[in-house]
Amino acid sequence: KAAPAPAAPAILPPGVSASDFAGAIREFIEILGAENVLTDADHLAPYTKVMVAESEDLHRPAAVIMARTVEQVQKIMAVCNRVRVPIWPISTGRNFGYGSAAPQSAGQVILDLRHMNRIIEVDPVMCTALVEPGVTYQQLKDYLVENNIPLWLSCPAPSAIAGPLGNTVDRGVGYTPYGEHFMMQCGMEVVLADGQVLRTGMGGVQNTNAWQVFKWGYGPYLDGIFTQSNYGVVTKMGMWLMPQPPVYKPFSIRYEKDEDIHDIVETLRPLRIAGVIPNAMVFANVMWEAAAIMPRSKYYQGTGTTPDHVLEEIKAKEGIGAWNVYAALYGTKEQVEVNWNIITGAIKASGKGRIITEEEAGETEPFKYRAKLMRGDMTLQEFGLYRWRGGGGSMWFAPVTVAKGSETRDQTELAKKILGEFGLDYVAEYIVGMRDMHHIIDVLFDRSNPDEMERAHACFAKLLSEFGKRGYAVYRVNTAFMDQTADLYGPVKRHVDQALKRALDPNGIIAPGKSGIRI
Ligand code: ADP
Repeated sequence: KAAPAPAAPAILPPGVSASDFAGAIREFIEILGAENVLTDADHLAPYTKVMVAESEDLHRPAAVIMARTVEQVQKIMAVCNRVRVPIWPISTGRNFGYGSAAPQSAGQVILDLRHMNRIIEVDPVMCTALVEPGVTYQQLKDYLVENNIPLWLSCPAPSAIAGPLGNTVDRGVGYTPYGEHFMMQCGMEVVLADGQVLRTGMGGVQNTNAWQVFKWGYGPYLDGIFTQSNYGVVTKMGMWLMPQPPVYKPFSIRYEKDEDIHDIVETLRPLRIAGVIPNAMVFANVMWEAAAIMPRSKYYQGTGTTPDHVLEEIKAKEGIGAWNVYAALYGTKEQVEVNWNIITGAIKASGKGRIITEEEAGETEPFKYRAKLMRGDMTLQEFGLYRWRGGGGSMWFAPVTVAKGSETRDQTELAKKILGEFGLDYVAEYIVGMRDMHHIIDVLFDRSNPDEMERAHACFAKLLSEFGKRGYAVYRVNTAFMDQTADLYGPVKRHVDQALKRALDPNGIIAPGKSGIRI
């Protein structure tokens, strides 16, 4: 029986005629089956929902297509090249606050890989995994538990529904000792725009068994160019998993004053660099802590920036610090004990900060979900942040920070000042990397309020430019600000990005505009 004709799209890819696009859609149906080619408004609606401070129309996809195999992705590339249809690949599509599933510009076809979701291999001896794009953290966690494999994951905050491949290729981070996810990635398979299948690292060697254990392979190291880019569609990714330690000891340190951020960094940086604190610990401010557990209306019903006296009230009544450190120790009982003594000694010597152990925290939030994150367990607790002010708007402003007290103080003051000018809140945490810190600020706003939308957009643009003037730039950004961010990294970087694009994808069909890169 003939398949029903697909709905005419509300929007076409730029420069593609309605009849050419209809032809492309027919070809997609031939390759994927009608149920995997979505063009009607109802099916596109969830992919069109953005959290950026811009109209959905600017990010509206022309269609969504769902592939299940590498061969299908290769065939899609051929159609896209012929008809010049741009495709925006997503894996689990949960890039909340960075653009969600929607493309950078309107009229792209979303290539949704959620059904390409095989866990191809977990090697319990080498502590590695090879996964497809649609594998979620929850799925991988369940697999490990069901098969009694004592390995831990490292996940971003909305862990259950996001996935390792999408998160890692966007260079997301987590909270365990493996929190710098791209560092723990090993080997990729990539479908290039011309349909060739590249395996990076050791992957090109026939009969290799080292694809997931040696990152660099031979010659230029290529994996990096397939992250935060649009040079290929990643169809497999290797990753390293952490052996479950015999003892896990999460703890928190509470600091009372905003300006304590300086001393926190100076006290804890040496412990992190020396590996005494092995994980990507976080320093969360009062509003982040509060937002994770309650809406702002519990303490404040007004609009605009939350006043300081309200924050003081929240601190006192909810037992939240101005800054709240979450870190953990992993290892044998003896190893943990030694490091615990070093840490408590350093805190005591600094004269500030109150340590809270898991026993003291009990079942209370936010400690409980933080303890989960630092062992790579599943939680959705941080969705609470989106309820803080309500209205569905969120754009992460995430400048890279040198882990020095003076720099942290400067960035915090500057961010607070600019957000205040626009009536918005400083909801922030620092995630401590190997030498840097990701200063993660959730610019929250009400998308149903046009005035607040406009202010949020202007605020974000100013955050980027004012931080930029001082030599600070973000590590990742939402789809509305990819070009402004690319400019901060300089013209030569933009030139090289574009030269690679022209070489690998001369028709510019893969994710035009991603990280500001186009042919
Ligand atoms: P998550 O759900 O873990 O947040 P996403 O699937 O939303 O991850 O992916 C995040 C971003 O990474 C996407 O917006 C896209 O730009 C890029 N991306 C995701 N999957 C792929 C892929 N398979 N190949 C190339 N780029 C990808």
